[in-house]
Amino acid sequence: MDLRELPKIDLHCHLDACVRVSTVTEIGKQLGLVLPDSLEAALIAPPVCDGLMDYLRRIDLALEVLQREGDLRRIACELVEDFQADGVIYGEVRFAPQLHTKRGLSLQQVVNAVHAGLEEGKQRYGVLTSLILCCIRQQDPSVSFEITKLAADNQDKVCGIDLAGDEFGFSGNPHVNAFILAERAGLRRTVHAGEAAGSDRIQEAIDVLHAERIGHGVRVVENPRLMSLLKDKAVALEVCPQSNVQTRAVDSLEAHPIDNLLKRGLRVTVNTDGRTLSATSCTREFQNLFRHKGWTLDEFWQCQFHAISAAFVSRDIRRLLEARIQRASKGERPNE
Ligand SMILES: [Zn+2]
Repeated sequence: MDLRELPKIDLHCHLDACVRVSTVTEIGKQLGLVLPDSLEAALIAPPVCDGLMDYLRRIDLALEVLQREGDLRRIACELVEDFQADGVIYGEVRFAPQLHTKRGLSLQQVVNAVHAGLEEGKQRYGVLTSLILCCIRQQDPSVSFEITKLAADNQDKVCGIDLAGDEFGFSGNPHVNAFILAERAGLRRTVHAGEAAGSDRIQEAIDVLHAERIGHGVRVVENPRLMSLLKDKAVALEVCPQSNVQTRAVDSLEAHPIDNLLKRGLRVTVNTDGRTLSATSCTREFQNLFRHKGWTLDEFWQCQFHAISAAFVSRDIRRLLEARIQRASKGERPNE
């Protein structure tokens, strides 16, 4: 069974963590950046990092090449090409526009450029995508509000918002106004939580920020009552197993609670986080789960159906995705 051939959904994928090494080299040279001797070492996180912030610092160089309209557009389009090569039929791409204004672009220009790249990718490679804008925990809440307003003003291009960044050091509470605005504007909401910090951050994401999905959320296992709540509310977990090992959210893939969470009936999905940063793909994530957790196609399809239910899409797109996954899960030819 070639997992690459099967249709998959990636709900948690950061644009700046997916820039190809060859593209960083090319744009870096154009910009006259001083590039490190080993770009791989600079852009790809080691198997185990010194926590989440050590993992995240490896996107700094990628951010340097994501500051011009043409480069943003190109890199977004290349990500869609990478989705196609991975068998991904629908991908949700997230990024923080406020980190892409160093060379003078406005936030609107940044969003337009990434959206244009995703559209170009859809035309060329036939992969559907949606765009999520990230607020960042350690930034001033006024920035989160501005980014959410940008999302609300661009609902033809953006489906929702996220809260990312330093979970250990910063509560989500100060960003509540951004999330209230998002909810009122009809934007979808996801929050990174229960990755670098404990289950209390997940509780906060649900109670205060009204998150509909949780990025990672693996530390919910510490709190059985919260597990029941997530199950009852059908809050999806965007689990990224490889990244969870690298950031030390879990000790190893073998010790990852993903199978327990799935068995307990939580809406578990499997995602990449950063295709370059974690040197991964959806295919590889599932290959690892097959190898290290004894997963089979049963779990694979279960996660795809969970992802369809949790995707930030219209009813029509959800039906379309469901039909494609349904056909493939019954053994009909994939990706038709
Ligand atoms: Zn993430």
